[in-house]
Amino acid sequence: MTDSLTNKLVRDDVRDMVAYQSARRGQSGGTCWLNANEAGGNNQLQINLSNLNRYPDFQPTELVNNYAQYANLPAEQVLATRGADEGIEVLIRTFCASAKDNIVICPPTYGMYAISAKGHNSQTTLVPLTDDLQLDIPALERQVGQCKIVFICSPNNPTGDIINRDDIIRVIELFKDSALVVVDEAYIEFCPECSFAELINTYPNLVVLRTLSKAFALAGLRCGFTLASKDIIAMMSKIIAPYPISQPVAAIASSALTTEGLAIMTNRVQQTLGLRKQLEQFLDKQNWLNKRFQSNTNYVLFNTDLAPQLFSFLTEQGVLIRNQSSQLTLENCLRVSIGSKQEMQQFIDATNAFNQTLNNNQQSN
Ligand SMILES: *Cc1c(COP(=O)(O)O)cnc(C)c1O
Repeated sequence: MTDSLTNKLVRDDVRDMVAYQSARRGQSGGTCWLNANEAGGNNQLQINLSNLNRYPDFQPTELVNNYAQYANLPAEQVLATRGADEGIEVLIRTFCASAKDNIVICPPTYGMYAISAKGHNSQTTLVPLTDDLQLDIPALERQVGQCKIVFICSPNNPTGDIINRDDIIRVIELFKDSALVVVDEAYIEFCPECSFAELINTYPNLVVLRTLSKAFALAGLRCGFTLASKDIIAMMSKIIAPYPISQPVAAIASSALTTEGLAIMTNRVQQTLGLRKQLEQFLDKQNWLNKRFQSNTNYVLFNTDLAPQLFSFLTEQGVLIRNQSSQLTLENCLRVSIGSKQEMQQFIDATNAFNQTLNNNQQSN
């Protein structure tokens, strides 16, 4: 029950709002976590905790320099944020006037664009992906002049596929005088050749979002980056919190971005791709599988008529995956993250146990 004072004071639109059901909010318990696209193993880390009496730099120099070098851009084109999620929020707060300007999203896609827009009282216009999960260019063209930001997630979460490069370029060009086109590259390390970062200095309205939460195995750290023109970064720097990156976060993230840290990340990505292949082969053998989506990421989405039953069975076994059935066009779709070798084996064992219950039911009928 919300008490009556809170109820009276809160913004009307917030009272009615449904919070983002993250993997750590909507689901709990379990022993095998394959529901948040995290890496399966932890980093070995050591940090220096002296100087915690001091505020950190607004943008920690070593961190920004290391990321700039990794992204092959000058440091003034990089903004470090509290996860890519803060980049999304700061972009909306910087470029969309509250209760006036819109964003465009292309569902099924990542949920936080719409949530952040709602928090800022900006409207979200939906331009759904086509049946083959690509951008609907004519429908997007009709939004020119009607929005300030177009969010494109590539590789897309939760589907896992890449949005066609030429289509994204077409959209950037369509909106070149009227809106930012934000390409969310949270999973780009799993397909680095698909990045748009190298085009930032060609297209002033292009913004790229990055994170250390996925391939870098640092979801608990909360560190992400916005890559954009110097002018866009300067405007966002007016709106973001004064000390967005705590000193321990900056220290850990900087070490993850050294040559050695990058080598560890690349190695982890290779292992993940190997485990993904094994999972795909396992899924393809299941006679209840309707469709397995093409993945360029560290997760696999699949469709089965038995989605509710399989999801509950796995949950009872402590294996948490993500049900995407509430997303536009993704009814009966489940998403499994690629965790550690042991975690993938737990998923496979639990799924085999599920199949066993199906066989037993069949025999008793
Ligand atoms: C995980 C994810 C994010 C958020 O990353 P954080 O850096 O952990 O905030 C952003 N976009 C997409 C598509 C994601 O999957």
